[in-house]
Formats: sequence, structure tokens, C-alpha cells
Amino acid sequence: MLSVEKALEVIISNISVKVQSEKTDIFNCYGRTLFNDIQSEFNVPPKDNSAMDGYAVLTDDIKQATPGSPVSLKIIDEIQAGYEFKGEKLQSGNAIRIMTGAPIPEGADSVIQFEETEESGDIVKIFKSTVKYENIRFAGEDIKKGNTILKKGTRIDSAEVGLLSSLNMNEISVYVKPKVGIISTGDELAEPGFADTGKIINSNAYVIYSEVKKYGGEPFYEGIVKDNYDDVKKKFLKLMDNDIIISSGGVSMGRYDFIPDVLKEIGIDIKINKVLMKPGKPVIFGTAGEKVFFGLPGNPVSVMVSFLQFVRPAILKMIGNNKISKPLLKAKAKEEIIKKPGRKHFIRGIFTIENGNLSVSTTGPQGSGILTSMSSANCLIIIPEEVEVVKIGEYVDIQLTGHSEI
Ligand code: AMP
Ligand code: MG
Repeated sequence: MLSVEKALEVIISNISVKVQSEKTDIFNCYGRTLFNDIQSEFNVPPKDNSAMDGYAVLTDDIKQATPGSPVSLKIIDEIQAGYEFKGEKLQSGNAIRIMTGAPIPEGADSVIQFEETEESGDIVKIFKSTVKYENIRFAGEDIKKGNTILKKGTRIDSAEVGLLSSLNMNEISVYVKPKVGIISTGDELAEPGFADTGKIINSNAYVIYSEVKKYGGEPFYEGIVKDNYDDVKKKFLKLMDNDIIISSGGVSMGRYDFIPDVLKEIGIDIKINKVLMKPGKPVIFGTAGEKVFFGLPGNPVSVMVSFLQFVRPAILKMIGNNKISKPLLKAKAKEEIIKKPGRKHFIRGIFTIENGNLSVSTTGPQGSGILTSMSSANCLIIIPEEVEVVKIGEYVDIQLTGHSEI
């Protein structure tokens, strides 16, 4: 049986980047992955401009200004953001009223904010000195013409949407989304909204669907399949036009757990069958050419944990993302954790910050069917294979999940 690390290595080495791009627009690029480096063809901001509402002045003119002995300057004009100073050059003894974002007039070398001034008629009294370039934002201070601003493989988050807009782009090349076919297996399952509530209601398919969307795949839900060899086989053959196929259930040792046999029969090369982890041990991974198959366990928590460890990085690699590993943080255990040696445990946890340090406690009962534990958790506490006891105050690795995810 493989360790989690080894299994991840096998998965990553069997995933190829889907090197195919498509264009999207500025409204729809959020969450996609950049297909190209993005260079800037111009400076942002384009001109030196004011960082404050105030007066553009010559720094030398007001170097003696204090609250008790202000310097008076003549106001010769006003510049609003979006407009330029029409005059020649600001001369000593004069000031120009200027708004945030407006271009600095020639001759001025600092801006004194309104709060330090008093205006009457066309005279402004200035109560404070400035230093050269104070309150001036320089051309190219954010983005320099010719620089690479974003790298190929970057996931487009809100800040990147802003940068792409600042770069005058409304059409963006991104990696295509892999098609991900999803099924649930089990005679016991019924669909939400239509179920006799005595049955087990399918939640896995919808968790997987959401996670696929979250990490950048295009999910297609293909329904519940009964625990019957021929039905399972027929369904898999129908799913073969996807890049990734994900099933849940049917991979344990039960009499009706047909998935491994079906996969073998339809020519999927099983590379992983069971991993030294808890929950999630019965997970299966296989390939058929460039297509990959994940057989996740049936229990809802096992599905979420194994998805995060294995399917998430697979999707991220396939869409060309240059950050696929999930960061680990260290937190102090607030309670004793006891486990059997042999498997890596992923315990649902809640981290808090106490005296500036990350601390973590468990969510309580850890059964692999307790999906409420994933909802109340904000992290997974990861306890290595060989460890049997974590004492209060010891440091453990945590992975952020759900609402707190990075
Ligand atoms: P299995 O691995 O197929 O034996 O499934 C283990 C257990 O997980 C089942 O007995 C169900 O209680 C539960 N389960 C399986 N599939 C689902 C699903 N799609 N949604 C919610 N629970 C499920
Ligand atoms: Mg089953």
C-alpha cells in the first residue's frame, strides 16, 4: 500500500497538462489559469499624479511653513482627475489646487494636502512644509512598461482581474477546463429533493461537483449507478469522453464493490489501489492514455479528504496551474490526539489564533460518515503514519480547508 506522498507522486507524474487555450473576457476570467505571460505595453499610472486632494507646490516655497507662521501662495488654477494643467509651468509663489489622481503640473514637486491649508479668495495659507515628491505617485510606480506582470500558470484571482483590466485587456487566453465526469455508485442512494428520507441521500456527487468547479474543472454529473457489474461497466464506457472520471463508493471490500474489476476489464491501468491514510484508504487511481480515473471511497468525509489530497492537485496540474501543492501550517495542539500507528490521519480541526500563535483543536467525533465535521472544520490536522500520541502543546501540521482555504 502506498503512502500519501508516494501516491501523490504517482498521480502527478501521470497527469499531463492539457495544453489547449481558449479566450475568455474580463468578466469571466476569474478562477481561470493564464495561458501566457502578461507583459505591460505602457506605464501604470501613465503620468506622475497626486496621491492627495491638496495643492501642487514648489517644495522650496513652503519649507519655512509652520502652524504659527504659514506661507501664503497664490492659487492660479485647479486640476481635476482626468484633466491636465493648461498653463506653462508652476512658478515660485503660486500653487495649483489639485485632486487625487490628477497629473502633477510641470514645475511642482510636491503636494500639500487640504488639511494643512486654509483658503481665502485666491490665496492659500500653508501651515506645514513638505519634502520633495511628497504625495506624488510616479508614472510606472505600479506597472512598468515592458515588465512581465503576471506569469503563465497563474490562477486569476480578484487582484489579477484588476491587473488585467489595468493593462487594458478584455480578452484573456486561459487554459481550457478539463471535462470531469462524475458518478455515484450504490443501490442505497437517492437524489436530494426526491428522496424517501429513510434512504441514504447522495451528497458525494454534489460535493465532488462543487470541488471540481472550485479548482477549475468543468463538471458533468452523470447520475447514480446501481451496484451491478454490467451497469457500472456501461456507465464507465459512456464516461470515456471526459478527461477525468470520478466515482464515489464501490471501492471497498464489500461483495458489491465492483469498480476495480470493471476498470480492469475496460482497460484502465490501475496505478494506485488503497493508500495509507485515514479516512480515504480505499481510493483508486488509474489511467487510460491521457485520461485519468479516480475511484473515491463512499463515505462522505473520505471523499472530501481524498479529493483534497489527490484530485485537487490533479486538476490544478491539468489546467497548467503553477501552484499545485497545498501549503502546510504549524499549529499547537489544544487537546491530546491519540491514533493507531500505520496510516496518516487527516483529522478535522478548528484553528484559532491565541497569543499570536496558531492553535488547533479537533471538531469532535471523527467518523468518516460525519460530514458535519467538514463543515465545522476550518482545517485538517495531519498526523504522520508512525505517530501514536500528540500531546497538548505539541506542534502539528494543518492544511486549511473550506471557508479558510488558501
Ligand atoms: P461504499 O464504499 O460504496 O461501501 O460506501 C460506504 C458508505 O458511504 C455507504 O454505506 C453510504 O452510507 C455512504 N455513501 C456512499 N455513497 C454515497 C453518496 N454518494 N453520498 C452519500 N453517502 C454515500
Ligand atoms: Mg456502495
